Amino acid sequence: MIRTSSYLTHPVFNSYHSEHEMLRYIKSLEAKDLSLCHSMIPLGSCTMKLNATTEMVPVTWARFGRLHPFAPVDQVSGYMQLINELNDWLCEITGFAKMSFQPNSGAQGEYTGLMVIRAYHESRGEGHRNVCLIPASAHGTNPASASMAGLKVVVVKTDDKGNIDVEDLKAKAAEHAANLNSLMVTYPSTHGVFEESIIEICNIIHENGGQVYMDGANMNAQVGLTCPGFIGADVCHLNLHKTFCIPHGGGGPGMGPIGVAEHLVPFLPNHAVVNVSSEQGITAVSAAPFGSASILLISHAYIALMGAEGLTEATKTAILNANYIKARLEQHYPVLYAGANGRCAHEMILDCRAFKNVGIEVADIAKRLMDYGFHAPTVSFPVAGTLMIEPTESESKAELDRFCDALIAIRQEIAAVEAGEVDQKNNVLKNAPHTAAVVSADEWDRPYSRQLAAYPLPYLKVNKFWPSVGRVNESQGDRMLICSCPPVEAYA
Ligand SMILES: *Cc1c(COP(=O)(O)O)cnc(C)c1O
Repeated sequence: MIRTSSYLTHPVFNSYHSEHEMLRYIKSLEAKDLSLCHSMIPLGSCTMKLNATTEMVPVTWARFGRLHPFAPVDQVSGYMQLINELNDWLCEITGFAKMSFQPNSGAQGEYTGLMVIRAYHESRGEGHRNVCLIPASAHGTNPASASMAGLKVVVVKTDDKGNIDVEDLKAKAAEHAANLNSLMVTYPSTHGVFEESIIEICNIIHENGGQVYMDGANMNAQVGLTCPGFIGADVCHLNLHKTFCIPHGGGGPGMGPIGVAEHLVPFLPNHAVVNVSSEQGITAVSAAPFGSASILLISHAYIALMGAEGLTEATKTAILNANYIKARLEQHYPVLYAGANGRCAHEMILDCRAFKNVGIEVADIAKRLMDYGFHAPTVSFPVAGTLMIEPTESESKAELDRFCDALIAIRQEIAAVEAGEVDQKNNVLKNAPHTAAVVSADEWDRPYSRQLAAYPLPYLKVNKFWPSVGRVNESQGDRMLICSCPPVEAYA
């Protein structure tokens, strides 16, 4: 059985033999990453909040990390206590009767929830119901999950204020009443607004025989103030890696448990080895009965540390922070949508489409933010040509101000293009981001100073993050994949 062929021949597997070398290699990769260690990550819809060290430490404990997922139930009483407590807390938070901890992501939760709804309809002899209504503003995972669950997607219009067009919803629900399976709805909406007709929307679906799936990705604007059960939803997933502090981004494990109302409890997914539901339960959606169980520790610690009062305070602070940014930035950028009182929920959309008139794209703003030491907000979701900003409760006023200062300074750079003071193609935005190599090169032929390129605001003098690469041609890169491994000839 001794291997004779060569394997793992890429230099990366053969270059770092001492602990020092290994440490430095890993650190050099880390240094390329603009992370929460450097600045807020204002990605709308992603809830990039604090992942506190206290919450994270238990994940490293062998008693939680070295357990087999199929271990007999009588050997895992500690884990069961943890999962049951978390179940009870999340039920209280969502207003639901029971959670399933199988789904490992929000998208997987959507799929699971829709399969549960399907099993419910089947149990009532209504298995033919196959139409899923989804508003035009929905996250891409919604229609994708619906189609994976075998449903026919019918799109519901949004009005010019960004709300679900209730008349269109009524018409489509009535038109498809005989086959209506469900509605997938995000609250507060992906437009960053508490949709005022949400209860009416849920009622319309129920009156026409459908079930309401609430996409809970925006739960950070609800916890302690309202909840899906109260609003009238039947199922909802929680992104524990958004609202409940599990770190995410970069492809780590997530958790997307679903909560359901009483009538759907029997249909929650079961598991072939560990019994976690009833005989009516749908088949497992994950390999493990409780998904990525070890990271539940993080959310458990977060809720235990915060308590009911703390969680509610966090929600209020998240909404306040977003409205603070809105108040500062709306004098410089149009904010696309707001509620009846002119407020946003926990996030907002900046409309950057008008800058296209002078050739400035939303991507130019995102790249330029790197020069200012910031991670970009969400680009072109849910509206093309816009930025969606979500600050979360974790950021201080000082950090919010630093971020607003950067975006305001960038707006002034755009104004210089609009005024014709600088070239539309060769300017500090189009050439962003600026690497250390470019700024310190012997040759400098740009029509602006090196100072403006790398140090546009005073705070950067104290704390400068250098992007590791300059602008790449995105559309060419998407179409022409280049392998960074050794060249093909090396394998000949
Ligand atoms: C993040 C998100 C999802 C998907 O969740 P994943 O955990 O990334 O699969 C779905 N809907 C909305 C609105 C989201 O923001």
